[in-house]
Parts: sequence; C-alpha cells; structure tokens
Amino acid sequence: MNVKGKVILSMLVISTVIVVFWEYINSPEGSLLWIYHSKNPEVGGSSTQKGWWFPSWFSNGTHNYQEEEEEDTDKEKGRGKARRKEDDKEELQLWDWFNPEKRPEVVTMTEWNAPIVWEGTYNGAVLEDYYAKQKITVGLTVFAVGRYIEHYLKEFITSANKYFMVGHKVIFYIMMDDLSKMPLIELGPLRFFKVFEIKPEKRWQDISMMRMKTIGEHITAHIQHEVDFLFCMDVDQVFQDNFGVETLGQSVAQLQAWWYNKYPYQFTYERRKESAAYIPFGEGDFYYHAAIFGGTPMQVLNITQECFKGILQDKKNDIEAEWHDESHLNKYFLLHKPTKILSPEYCWDYHIGLPSDIKIVKLSWQTKEYNLVRNNI
Ligand code: UDP
Ligand code: MN
Repeated sequence: MNVKGKVILSMLVISTVIVVFWEYINSPEGSLLWIYHSKNPEVGGSSTQKGWWFPSWFSNGTHNYQEEEEEDTDKEKGRGKARRKEDDKEELQLWDWFNPEKRPEVVTMTEWNAPIVWEGTYNGAVLEDYYAKQKITVGLTVFAVGRYIEHYLKEFITSANKYFMVGHKVIFYIMMDDLSKMPLIELGPLRFFKVFEIKPEKRWQDISMMRMKTIGEHITAHIQHEVDFLFCMDVDQVFQDNFGVETLGQSVAQLQAWWYNKYPYQFTYERRKESAAYIPFGEGDFYYHAAIFGGTPMQVLNITQECFKGILQDKKNDIEAEWHDESHLNKYFLLHKPTKILSPEYCWDYHIGLPSDIKIVKLSWQTKEYNLVRNNI
C-alpha cells in the first residue's frame, strides 16, 4: 500500500472509532437500561429473591439507586403526562377552586401556604371541568399480603371502583403474594387493574416498610409512563363517599385522624436520635398518616426512595422507627413540605366518634383485627 492509501485507511479507522464511541455515550437504552430491567425480576411479576431479607434489601436498594442516578436523563424524557399537559394549558390557580374561609373552625392553610382540603373549601365543578379537559389518569397502589387479602382487598377495590376519582381514568396497581387469591371484581368504565406478585416478608413491620421499595421500583419501571397522579394506600380501609380530583397535587399528605387536633409535642414522631426518622421535640407541623400519600409519579418516587433510604439506614444501625414507614414519611414531609394536605375526612376512624369537624367521611378505617390478620403480633 502506498502512503496515500495508508492515510485514507487510518482516517477511516479513526472516524469509525469516533462514531461508535459517540453512539455508546449517547445511548442509555443500549447499555444501562437493559441491565436495570433484567436485574429486577419482581417488577415484571413473580419474585425469585431468596435468602435473609437484610442483605437482599440492602444490596438491591444500593444497586437501584446508582442505576436510577444514571437514568436521570431518561426520567426527564419520561416525566409524567401531567407536566407536558401543564405546558400546553393554563394552570389552575389555588384561588380558582379553593376558599379557606369556608371552614373557619379548622386549620385550612399551612404556614407554607399549602391548602388543607376540608369538605366545603373546594369548588368541585371548577376542578372537574379543569381535569376533564386534561383527560387525566390516576393510579392507586395497594398491597395485600397474607390474610390481608381475604380480609380487606375485595371491599377496598369494590368501594374504590365506586368512589375513587369518579369519571376519570383509574389504574389500580394491586401487589399481592398470592395471585390465585385475587377476588373477582367487575370494574366500571374507565377503571383498570394490574396485579403483581411480591415476595411476602416474614414480619408485618417489614411487609409494611417494604412497600416503599416496591412502589419506587414500579414507578420507575412503568407507572411514570401510565398515570398523571398516583396515590398509595393501605388496604384496611373502605371508601364511603367521593374521593375526587380535589385531592390531586404535586405531593399530597393525609392528616392522621387521631392527631389532627393535637399539638406537635404530643405527636408520636420517632424521638430517638439514632433513627433516620428522628424529629426532635419542638419541630414538626402535623402528624401524617402513612395509609394515604400521593402526588405526581416523580414526587411519589422521591418520597418512597427517601423513606426507604431511611429504613435501610435504620436496619444498618439496628434500630426500627416506632411507627415504621409512617415515622419515615413524617420525617420526609417535615423536610419536604407537602403541596396539599387532606383533612381527616379523607381517612376517618369511626372509633373516634363523629365530631362536627367531620362533614363527610370519604374513606374510613376498618376495625383493627391484628390477631386475625398479622403473622407476628
Ligand atoms: N400489609 C399486608 N399484610 C400484612 C401487613 C401489612 O398486606 O401482613 C399491608 C396492607 O396493605 C396494610 C399495610 O401493609 O394495610 C399497613 O399495615 P397495617 O394496615 O396493618 O398498619 P396500620 O394501619 O395498623 O398501622
Ligand atoms: Mn392500615
């Protein structure tokens, strides 16, 4: 080969290398995402994880976070439909639908100007009109493991079918340890469900806490592309009346029925410094109930990931927060204030009675029958 030939050949080789390298660094689908999906068997359905729970939680947790950081640009691409719709349409202002003066006897605004939604404070017609035009989809995750399936699941889904986001598209994400026990439920129009098999933890405390990890994984894998808003709820409750679009927001917290009219120093926050959920006396806004939280998929992803990080840190330090995931959720909402709060009308316990503050019960607690439904008491 003469000199001219060698020069042309080497230029060809160099340009090929540059093109291949450029394609590689710009292609998350081709490399990182494939690894991520292939390593999460439980996301697609059944879980094959074995062994003692702590090493598997810990290693899986750490692993996923690293990959999710690498996935950031992808998350941006896939950010909820809600944001894209907001870009097109004019956003609803708080005063268009909310009047805090309608319920002077209760607290209706937080110090950081977030609405606390009580019956009477919102204009349902304005909200319905706004969200109907946007054709929103709302997701609802619920877990039923062990005897919680036969005790609560059917009533929860049947009542949600009737009262949750009536007139809007809803997807129920049902996480169970035994798919054969899924009750036969006929859903109304615009209602869909997806059922996933999850691994049952041995202790009820771990079943409850592990939800934070599982929800985060499902948001990342598919929920973020399927819904505009997402709620996460306990199964041991029943809808009693319309739970509608007035509850939607970026990040939504629920006031715990027994504590809504108490002072922060009385709240059962985690008070030990050693726990990640620690809240000192003198701090705290409200006592939030872990039986209901929600928001946009990206906000809920952040909530669940941060809470799960706290849970893992506590496991490592051999401590368990007094009220488990709820303690971590309270710590999260102390640091990241919710943009909307739901009054206890949205999650009421009739064992308290029915004070005049509670105008309409939207959802009520089931009677606690721990001896019947829990593995370990
Ligand atoms: N859960 C479950 N099986 C269990 C324990 C808990 O399915 O053995 C799920 C279920 O969705 C339940 C939630 O975790 O509603 C939280 O547990 P629980 O309702 O018993 O807690 P509490 O509301 O009494 O604090
Ligand atoms: Mn519960």
